[in-house]
Amino acid sequence: VSDENGVIRHYLAVCEDITQRRQQQEKILHQAHFDSLTQLPNRFLALDRLSQCIMEAQRNNDSVSVLFLDLDDFKKVNDKFGHLFGDDVLKVIAKKLNENLRSIDLTGRWGGEEFILILPDTNAKQAQEIIDRIRKNIANIPFSPSSTSKKFNVTVSFGISESNLADVSLHDILAKADQALYSAKTKGRNQVVVHLE
Ligand code: GH3
Ligand code: MG
Ligand code: MG
Repeated sequence: VSDENGVIRHYLAVCEDITQRRQQQEKILHQAHFDSLTQLPNRFLALDRLSQCIMEAQRNNDSVSVLFLDLDDFKKVNDKFGHLFGDDVLKVIAKKLNENLRSIDLTGRWGGEEFILILPDTNAKQAQEIIDRIRKNIANIPFSPSSTSKKFNVTVSFGISESNLADVSLHDILAKADQALYSAKTKGRNQVVVHLE
């Protein structure tokens, strides 16, 4: 602030605390990319990661395995024990998936009771071994609803897609994993099916 002779006499500083605005922006960004129930990456973020993984694998001549996991007969769990208990089951399974995978892998909530797993640098045979272990771990989790003294287990089905990446698109990889999952369901559930060319 200058006086009548133009000599600066004071300085004014305007400050604004933007902490709250920043926190809100971060929250919105998080909500756009993560599922609110399980806190896993949502479909949008998983697809983004998958396209990056495919590009990297093509560059390095590596393989990447993509898996769909779907809970078996989950509607019955909701019908018997209620939707809130079903939500708890989803959370426990999401946590179990993350515990059993490497930090470079991605577990995402594809939607409903279906999850996507992206395993970079992993061929279908390696993926099948990892997944067999996870499937057994999940089948051994004792769930205990408060409405009954009985415990029960949940089983899951997996479809795996692993491809020659030189000529494969994101769409093809997902379609193959989806077909493999469908096949696991029609073969009786609680199993892993690898999509074969
Ligand atoms: P299948 O073995 O063929 O997969 O049978 P399913 O009963 O699991 O499949 P279906 O598609 O018939 O039912 C899926 C159920 O998943 C129905 C729906 O209420 C439940 N579901 C989807 N999203 C959620 C959720 O966020 N929370 C809860 N509690 N249930 C959910
Ligand atoms: Mg299901
Ligand atoms: Mg389903």
